[in-house]
Amino acid sequence: MIEKKPLNLKSQTLDLSTVVKTSLSTPWRILVVDDDEDVHSVTRLILTKITFKNRPVELLSAYSALEAQEILSREKNIAVILLDVVMETDDAGLRLVKIIRDELKNHEIRIILRTGQPGQAPEERVVVDYDINDYKAKNELTSQKLFTAIISACRAYETIMSLNKTHRGLEKILHSSDSLFKIQSMHEFASGILAQLSSFLDCQPQGIICIEKNTEVEVESISCLPDNLKVIAVTEEFECCLRCNLDHSCGHGEIATMIKKALYERKNQFNEKYSAFYLDANDNKATIALVYSEREIDKHDLDLLEVFTSKISIALANAIHYQKMVTFEKAAVTDFLTNLNNRRQLLRLGLPMLALANRNNRLAVAMVDIDFFKQINDKYGHDVGDVVLKHVGKMLSERFRSCDVVARYGGEEFCILAPSLNSTLLAFELFDNFRISLANSDVQIPNDEIIKITVSIGVTTDLCPNLDDMITAADYLLYKAKNSGRNCVIVK
Ligand code: GH3
Ligand code: MG
Ligand code: MG
Repeated sequence: MIEKKPLNLKSQTLDLSTVVKTSLSTPWRILVVDDDEDVHSVTRLILTKITFKNRPVELLSAYSALEAQEILSREKNIAVILLDVVMETDDAGLRLVKIIRDELKNHEIRIILRTGQPGQAPEERVVVDYDINDYKAKNELTSQKLFTAIISACRAYETIMSLNKTHRGLEKILHSSDSLFKIQSMHEFASGILAQLSSFLDCQPQGIICIEKNTEVEVESISCLPDNLKVIAVTEEFECCLRCNLDHSCGHGEIATMIKKALYERKNQFNEKYSAFYLDANDNKATIALVYSEREIDKHDLDLLEVFTSKISIALANAIHYQKMVTFEKAAVTDFLTNLNNRRQLLRLGLPMLALANRNNRLAVAMVDIDFFKQINDKYGHDVGDVVLKHVGKMLSERFRSCDVVARYGGEEFCILAPSLNSTLLAFELFDNFRISLANSDVQIPNDEIIKITVSIGVTTDLCPNLDDMITAADYLLYKAKNSGRNCVIVK
């Protein structure tokens, strides 16, 4: 039996071996700007032979500063410009430097000034006054020197681009973790994760979020993992996976395998189309986010993704804790069987109601008790008794308004606080209508049997200084209703 790897409670490390290296075909783009065709031919002869870091060189040519400006505004990712100074004017090249940096706001491109008339543009002055990266006189620029200058410039361009990318990535991480920390519902959180990862990878937010159902399950091989996963959120494109829960039946076998692998190996997985992120929320249950990244993930993305996924993991743990807290808080005030308020919550919510009633003289307190309930338990068993209690609870919560407080007071007794009633007539009508509809309703019990039940109700509209006294008064009226033959309402 293959043992499952232990949970790594820190953020997972990323496996660089899964990264597909920058494609061989991505060339270094170099723009040659000169009004002399011979300069273009010689340069082409030297530069087309170059490959650097497994990438060839792609040459673009412009014969004037104006043409160069047009190319620069249109084309992306030009790494180096070899720029003549004297073209359509004596200082056309120098003017173009200003345009590149100040108007086109291109601070990444490396500018090598290459002049045939150094007298027109003295090196010392030009290098100080213009944001260029190298200055060469044409007559001293041998093929070896040109080669060295181009390689150094490409390397510098690559460093700048990667720093920029890191900077942008970190900005996104800071921004996204802020917003993720504000999300508290798990469903919103799941789509938040997809949105943030997609924005980070510059792709459409398309993906799937799965959670590990049970960490106790012994895993024998990756193929037995689907049972251990639950798909909790999907974008439109993957809706079928929500239904099939990654059992391969919807034709998304490739992503199912990736998700399972991420869970099994407890680390992120990448291929040329998808990225599957292993998020450890520190609660012994992993979350896997699969994003349609549409492209290969490069090394810089990976380094940042390591930071990013650990941030998301912390925010996820935060959301899970919040969810648990909400569940515990709800459990403390709710009756587990009927989902109504419990007695404690009734007394808590009743306090402000009574304070208001002391001013507007409007509050009815009712006690509702199921008739001969013990007989139902005795005849059908406690489970059927529970079904009856749930039926009454459901009808009470449907019949009364959200401003009323409905609670299970204990056993088969329910208490209702109705803050708008001040007359015994109104109170009678309200509770008697309820009594009649309950008596007419069918309680469906197992074995397809239907049973009928009735309730007795005591209601008081006489205000007392405290709620306990009003409840005691309603209970006394309930006792009278029982003694009057049950299935009736007594109001005072
Ligand atoms: P009456 O008409 O006078 O109200 O009679 P009754 O049988 O309804 O009242 P009694 O107080 O004699 O019996 C109440 C029964 O309710 C006793 C108790 O075992 C049962 N009971 C209390 N809580 C639960 C519960 O959560 N589930 C079930 N199934 N039964 C419960
Ligand atoms: Mg009873
Ligand atoms: Mg009772």
